[in-house]
Amino acid sequence: MAKVLPVVIYPDPLLRERSAEIEDIDDDLRSFVEDMAVTMYATDGLGLAAVQVGVTKRIFIIEPQAAGGTKEDPVLVFINPEIIRSEGQDRAEEGCLSLPGVFVSVPRAEKVTIRATDLDGNTFEMEADGILAKAFQHELDHLDGKLIIDYVGPVKRKLALRHLDPHKYDDL
Ligand SMILES: [Zn+2]
Repeated sequence: MAKVLPVVIYPDPLLRERSAEIEDIDDDLRSFVEDMAVTMYATDGLGLAAVQVGVTKRIFIIEPQAAGGTKEDPVLVFINPEIIRSEGQDRAEEGCLSLPGVFVSVPRAEKVTIRATDLDGNTFEMEADGILAKAFQHELDHLDGKLIIDYVGPVKRKLALRHLDPHKYDDL
């Protein structure tokens, strides 16, 4: 049975680590992805990186609705992802499950193409714009230890962090 995992909350130093490449795509990884999926839905996230549930491996998931699917579809899984093309510029307020209550304006590429491996071990590419493109860049940042508050100056960061509610996910 898939279970809801505790979410790692800022300022946990784990969130600053660079996640490691995944070499084996096996049943352990597949059941971990199921746990990630129920955790993402339980916390109302659009996406979730493994490091946010304490596993520093290069994998993140995105809810299928963000890519035009329905909640009944499987979550989108990106193993060892990299952005191979990006164009344009965009900016919007972003939040993060690891920074509950915090929202800051983050500059992103408008359109990106991501290359990753799926749970069957196949490499694929996906082009995205809008919220999906932002989600790719946000989750990829997590795999490199980068957070949304890194995109604002010290004064705005301090203001934003005043809203941090570190107890939000204690009960999971
Ligand atoms: Zn995040």
